[in-house]
Amino acid sequence: MVINEINCKSILNKSGIPSIDYGINPYIGCGHKCQYCYAVFMKRFSGHTEPWGDFVDVKINAPVVLERQLKRLKRKSHISFGTVCDAYQPLEAKYEITRKCLEKLVPYKHEVSILTKSNLVLRDVDILKKLKNIEVGFTVTSLDPKVKKIFEPNAPPSRKRFEALKTLSQHHIPTWVFVAPTLPYFSDSEEALGQLFREARSAGSEYILFDTLNPYPKVWNNVMRLIKKYFPDALDFYDFYYHNKTKYERNLRVKISKIGRRYRIKYRTVF
Ligand code: SF4
Repeated sequence: MVINEINCKSILNKSGIPSIDYGINPYIGCGHKCQYCYAVFMKRFSGHTEPWGDFVDVKINAPVVLERQLKRLKRKSHISFGTVCDAYQPLEAKYEITRKCLEKLVPYKHEVSILTKSNLVLRDVDILKKLKNIEVGFTVTSLDPKVKKIFEPNAPPSRKRFEALKTLSQHHIPTWVFVAPTLPYFSDSEEALGQLFREARSAGSEYILFDTLNPYPKVWNNVMRLIKKYFPDALDFYDFYYHNKTKYERNLRVKISKIGRRYRIKYRTVF
C-alpha cells in the first residue's frame, strides 16, 4: 500500500449528486479495494498508476481547511462524507481526519450524511450525537461471506455492518441501508433480497435503497475477470445482464416491490 500525506486546497467540494450540496473526501483512494468501485476514475485525476485499493493520499490538513470553508458557507447545506472514498476506510483509525472534520461541523446546522462500509464509524458516536442533523448509511451488497471477500476484500464483514447499524440506532442516530450494487446472480434472488430487508429492519434502519451494477468498461472488465475466476457458473447470467440491463432492471424492480411489501421498512430503487 502506497500512503502519501498531502495538503489539500479545498475539502468541501461541490457535489454532482442530486440532493447533496457538498462532498467531503478526507482521502484519495480507498483501502477497502472494492472490485466494482466506480471511484476508480480518481486514479486519472490523482495521477496514480497503482491498482485501485493499493494507494491512499491522506489529506492531513483537511480539518483546518474545512474550518475555513465552513465560516464562508452561508447557506444551510447537505454535506456528505465519502462520495469518492470511504471516510472510514482502515487508515482513518490512525489518522482520524474524518473524526476531526466532524468535530468542525458540530457548531453548524448543516445536514450531514455519511455513507460507509465500516463499523469504525462507531468510534465517533460521541460526535455524531452532537450533530443536529445527521444520518449514517451503510452499503451492503451481499450477506454471503465468499461474495463479500471477492468483491470487497478489505471491507468489514457485512454482519459487522448490520451490527454497527443496530448500535447507531440504539444511540438514536438515523440510519439507512444502501444495497449498491445489487449484485446480479448473488443478491437479487427473492431469498437474498428478503434477507437484506430483514437485516435492515432488525437493525432499526429507517429505509433501504437499491441500485444496480453499472457496467462502466473498467468496472465491468474487472467484475467479469472475477466471475470467470471464482464463479464460472454465473458467467451466462452476467452475459445476459450486460445485454439486457433494462429488462433485468424492470424485473428486479417488480421483485423488490413484491418482497418489500412484506417488511415494515421504507424502500426505494434508484435505477
Ligand atoms: S468502500 Fe466505496 S469508495 Fe471504497 S473501494 Fe469500496 S466502493 Fe469504492
